[in-house]
Amino acid sequence: MHNNLKLFTELAEFLISEEKNNPVATPIDTSKLYETLNLSLDDEPTIDEDFIKTLKDIIKSTPKTASTSFFNQLFGGRIDRATLGDLLAVMLNNSMYTYKVAGPQVGIEKTILHKICDMIGYPKTADGTFAPGGSMSNYMAVLMARDKYNPKARTEGITNKMTLYTSEASHYSIAKNASFIGVGRDQVRAIKTNDKGEMLSSHLDQQIQIDKDQGYQPFFVNATAGTTVLGAFDDVKSISKVCKKYGLWLHLDGAYCGAVIFSEAYKHLVNGIELTDSFSVNAHKMLGTPLSCSVIVTQNKEHLKKSFSNEAEYLYQTNDDEFNLGKTSIQCGRRNDALKLWTLWKSVGNKGLEKIVDHQFNLAKFARNYITNHPDYTLYSFDDSISVCFNYKDIPANTLCTALYEQSQLMVGFGNFKNQEFVRMVTINSILKKEDITNFFKTIEKFVISSENLIN
Ligand SMILES: *Cc1c(COP(=O)(O)O)cnc(C)c1O
Repeated sequence: MHNNLKLFTELAEFLISEEKNNPVATPIDTSKLYETLNLSLDDEPTIDEDFIKTLKDIIKSTPKTASTSFFNQLFGGRIDRATLGDLLAVMLNNSMYTYKVAGPQVGIEKTILHKICDMIGYPKTADGTFAPGGSMSNYMAVLMARDKYNPKARTEGITNKMTLYTSEASHYSIAKNASFIGVGRDQVRAIKTNDKGEMLSSHLDQQIQIDKDQGYQPFFVNATAGTTVLGAFDDVKSISKVCKKYGLWLHLDGAYCGAVIFSEAYKHLVNGIELTDSFSVNAHKMLGTPLSCSVIVTQNKEHLKKSFSNEAEYLYQTNDDEFNLGKTSIQCGRRNDALKLWTLWKSVGNKGLEKIVDHQFNLAKFARNYITNHPDYTLYSFDDSISVCFNYKDIPANTLCTALYEQSQLMVGFGNFKNQEFVRMVTINSILKKEDITNFFKTIEKFVISSENLIN
């Protein structure tokens, strides 16, 4: 192992130099992947020299999500104290299901969960768990709601015609999860949004009434803190009123921007969060921990137990079940996703997490200013969002983003809203500085001049 640690350091240093010198790896065409890299698995062992060379080739060609040129998705960068925690978690290699096997790591997970519950104003009965990503956090929320409103579903299966509600701008996992829980995609009602992509609670109210009149059983509403394309925040308070009126479960999907709870300046964007039944947030998005680190909390831990506990004599042999986290998780064996968030939080404090969040909004403001001050750009996004959506010189966003990627210039994606397609750059990497944002735009401008033919 000692030698492997040395090799690991060598490879990590190689990666870091590649991130600097070749921030956008030359993409390998999928048709050439297996002839370009030696990925095959053979009968004979590989000698060390070849093994190390192959690893370096792979590192070189792998997209560099921590580089200053990565704006493609809702994560990016590398915060050392969080990475350190994840590396330790790999070395420790515990499974989080029992206290016997995970020891103090259980306390680390519970500390984070209770702190988040406190911060958002949930009562002492609240609790949560770490799920394998935001989609799965949403899955756990909707499953708890199903079992609350249809307690027989767990044993007998779904018999009622249940319906759920989410805005047309929400994440696709809501529809996927509706199929997983046996309710079905066709029972998901897409609620209209206003011009900023925020759910219209008036339409929500109407749609629920229509469904009730037709004999359906409405049970669950998903609101979003940071929609996937525009980064919009649904109005939790007004949606909560509708949920109270009909007695429905309200979940707040904060996978993208739920981390605003750490910021004095931005937590107003989730005003009313204490009125929700469950809330999820991905620390691997705004907080910059390595993938994946997703938290789901609920007002009453009984819901977690009712939907996720199972007796298993071969597993739960010691200790109080309060410390046997397998009783409230979706998996059996479960990797330790808590430690990386804890090492970050412990080292920078609440104030440090606040700075991380605020910096991203400042970078987004800076980017929007750049766009509005340069007439060749059109802006599509709004204040209080870290998704900066724009077009440049009427070049189709799809064409521009693809060319930037193929020519190793920038990693950035495109999205659309109400029939407009645009580039979506995300200022989620809190390591970046304003110069990096300016550089992003300058790169596009230079690239377009030098490749006029390619793009037109
Ligand atoms: C990213 C995202 C998800 C999904 O999270 P994963 O960790 O990728 O599964 C869910 N909802 C929203 C709003 C997101 O932005």
